[in-house]
Amino acid sequence: MKKPWKTQIDLITPYKPGKPIEEVKRELGLKDVVKLASNENPLGPSPKVIEAIAKAARDVNRYPDSGCYYLKKALSAKLGIPEERFVFGNGSDEIIVMTLNAFVDPNDEVVVADPTFLIYHIASMVKGAKVNAVPLKNYKYDLDAMLGAITARTRVIFIANPDNPTGSYVTRDELDAFIDRVSDDVLVFIDEAYYEFATGGDYPETLDLVNRPDRHIVIARTFSKAYSLAGLRVGYGITRPDVAEVLNKVREPFNVNSLGQAAAVAALEDEKYMKKAIELTHGEMERYYEAFNGLGLKYIPSKTNFILVDTGRDSSAVFKYLLERGVIVREMSAWGLQGFIRVNVGLARENDRFFKVLADAIKEIPGKE
Ligand SMILES: *Cc1c(COP(=O)(O)O)cnc(C)c1O
Repeated sequence: MKKPWKTQIDLITPYKPGKPIEEVKRELGLKDVVKLASNENPLGPSPKVIEAIAKAARDVNRYPDSGCYYLKKALSAKLGIPEERFVFGNGSDEIIVMTLNAFVDPNDEVVVADPTFLIYHIASMVKGAKVNAVPLKNYKYDLDAMLGAITARTRVIFIANPDNPTGSYVTRDELDAFIDRVSDDVLVFIDEAYYEFATGGDYPETLDLVNRPDRHIVIARTFSKAYSLAGLRVGYGITRPDVAEVLNKVREPFNVNSLGQAAAVAALEDEKYMKKAIELTHGEMERYYEAFNGLGLKYIPSKTNFILVDTGRDSSAVFKYLLERGVIVREMSAWGLQGFIRVNVGLARENDRFFKVLADAIKEIPGKE
């Protein structure tokens, strides 16, 4: 029998999400499970968000507002960016997909880092694009090498800043030098999913970049992480009005659901709650550094709410050891990072539990020679 689907689909390794808490409870018969695997916000949504969702629930018989009117107004006011520069997605994942739909034909090329957020690669493969994956240098984006990977067929370049899974970032100087040298027929996609966490140091502000008339740039952000709305799927892109128009043409009309829109507006109004998550994360991240230092493990200092650590052991054995004791982390061999796990900052007591079980794992599982 002939396969009627696109041949490229057979080359895709499916995305493997972090294991859900309920699944681990079910499969392992555990009562108390901690998930530190998907960079989620451990505080849960703000009470004001829950109230807004309850209120909006009465109207779910109606289609959502296709233009995200109130959310767009609220973000425009907060960021000082004109409304015609926004495009909204079912999570920022959908901004990635919309960008590829609008810019990439089969056999066009896309440049990504390796490793980085896997969705860039997978979504590009779905489009039939050729993906040029450029290795990181010292766990950081190698922008020079990425420039070198651009060909006449390249249409999109993805830059996660900060990056996932490393938590590293590129500076404004590095980004400017890069964008100056990218030609104007390539779209630069800057994914700032962890923007809110990346305070201090030389992590760059970038929104002014989309004013450049001679470059095509999309900056993507999300309500999934610092704003604690991962389950509702709301993300957005900021770009030049003409590019926003192009992306809105390929967008499904009702892509952002009504509960998500209401929740995102309420989350923006409760900035204090979001700041609490950032503070918790920064404080607990210091404890992660201490814990890893104490165990003699190498890690990449992170500007995000997660951290990549080299267990110095078979990471699938470490992953399994943790899982059986009710702690879900992410094992990184699918990213080509042998021996590494990625773990996100949880509540203090969740982190304590992770530190304890990890210390046991390090003791019991032999290290690599
Ligand atoms: C989590 C994450 C996203 C956000 O995805 P949503 O679809 O908005 O939930 C985007 N990019 C990166 C690098 C991420 O880690």
